[in-house]
Amino acid sequence: MKRFKMLIDGVATESISGRVATIKNPANQEPVAEVSFGGRVDAALALKAAERAFPGWAKIEPQRRGEILHRASDLVREKAEEIARLLTQEQGKPLRYARNEVLSSAEALDYYAEEGKRNFGEIVPSASKRSRSLVISQPLGVAAVISPWNYPVDLLAWKLAPALAAGCTVVAKPSSKAPLAATEFVMATEEAGLPPGVLNLVHGSGRDVGSELVENPISRKVSFTGETTTGKEIMEKASRHVKRLSLELGGHSPAIVCEDAKIEEAAEACMYRAFSNMGQICISVNRIYVHDAVAEEFADELVKMTKKLRIGGGLDPDVDLGPMFSEAQRQKTKDQIADALDKGATILCGGSEPEGEEFRRGFFFMPTVLDRMDHSMRMMREETFGPVAPMMSFSSNDEALRLANDSRYGLAAYVFCEDMTTALWFAEGLEAGSVGVNLNNVIQPQAPFGGWKESGLGRERSRAALEAYMEKKHIRIGLREGF
Ligand code: NAD
Repeated sequence: MKRFKMLIDGVATESISGRVATIKNPANQEPVAEVSFGGRVDAALALKAAERAFPGWAKIEPQRRGEILHRASDLVREKAEEIARLLTQEQGKPLRYARNEVLSSAEALDYYAEEGKRNFGEIVPSASKRSRSLVISQPLGVAAVISPWNYPVDLLAWKLAPALAAGCTVVAKPSSKAPLAATEFVMATEEAGLPPGVLNLVHGSGRDVGSELVENPISRKVSFTGETTTGKEIMEKASRHVKRLSLELGGHSPAIVCEDAKIEEAAEACMYRAFSNMGQICISVNRIYVHDAVAEEFADELVKMTKKLRIGGGLDPDVDLGPMFSEAQRQKTKDQIADALDKGATILCGGSEPEGEEFRRGFFFMPTVLDRMDHSMRMMREETFGPVAPMMSFSSNDEALRLANDSRYGLAAYVFCEDMTTALWFAEGLEAGSVGVNLNNVIQPQAPFGGWKESGLGRERSRAALEAYMEKKHIRIGLREGF
């Protein structure tokens, strides 16, 4: 079986302890590959390598760094099919979505290859005639980049690309549960000509490798995507060294369907955003609020479309939905459905595992539509990370906005509404980092992405992500007589 290694100081390496983990396919629980499983010592070695490499990499002209990142993007594209197949096998998503994820990660490298060149400074007005004030941004040092299992390649790429473009060196730790495609991505990026130690990769648990990356004073920045509870723990530990933080945490996104919405389009958009990647997306639609007048029509459309979705192993090209990632995710979804039904919800479709021999060994679950939900139910308050579209009706816009904002999360929100005045009223009132109006994809390379409230801190994508790996410096120059 193939063994995936770590990358420390430019060398593909085994863990010091020799420990190895086997990664299994969630569609059938067959082993896919082995991975070297590191610990605190491996993480500390990687941090030291990144620290040594930092002064050299920080000094290289942004143009040159950009050339390497463009070359890395070409290499990732050349290997896209191979990386995508691994991603499907370790994570479960259908191959066409895995391909899109890998291509998006190549786009991250290209985007920041260019954005890195535009690190403009400022000359700010001075209080005295005899001085000038320049403001420049400089790379902040070693960045620890920690990512989850649901988009293991894309989420890593959109962190390490701006970090490298800014001139930081990186120690990356993908999820220990889905590390294979991320390893191929990192190895391809390294092959593009990065000096040794600029990009390091360590596998292992969050408890050991993750903690070392956060606690060790060598890392000046922690960029993390994952659960809110983990993010809070990281925030506490990072405070000991006042480390810079970017936290992309949990979400619980509402979708509001107004009386004048185009019902078929809204139902399709909500269906896709509730079920793709089996609902295991931080910006998944988690609560659908539908105006009373159109609630029945919307529910009928949503159920009709949901029933057409094809479920199966992700390598089958005809499949829309793969398995869930793990039994734990599936059980959590079942528990939340049971809680909702217990408290008065009704089930319109799904709600159980699909029948058939081909589903027996995988973590499959039917996409589920629930109605008559209310906020006493766990599913309306806690992240589900499962393929469920729960609906609740409303009678006034004020009520819909109040319900939508009744959450500790604030990552994304969606509004389906033809009247733009009402749509904008909702968009401005929603407590979320991104709002989609009449669409379901709020992620754009050029736009900042991140959460309000307990959904996170800082912004990714866009210019904001480059700035997140830099420190500002004010240089005040005193001038001689003559001015
Ligand atoms: P997780 O928090 O369990 O793990 C994420 C990463 O952190 C993994 O690499 C893990 O090994 C590591 N880790 C765990 N404990 C750690 C610790 N104490 N110190 C340092 N590192 C530690 O999350 P997960 O289950 O892999 O991912 C699912 C979660 O990610 C969901 O809550 C989802 O909403 C969130 N997510 C958020 C976004 C976003 O952009 N806001 C995107 C995708 C996923």
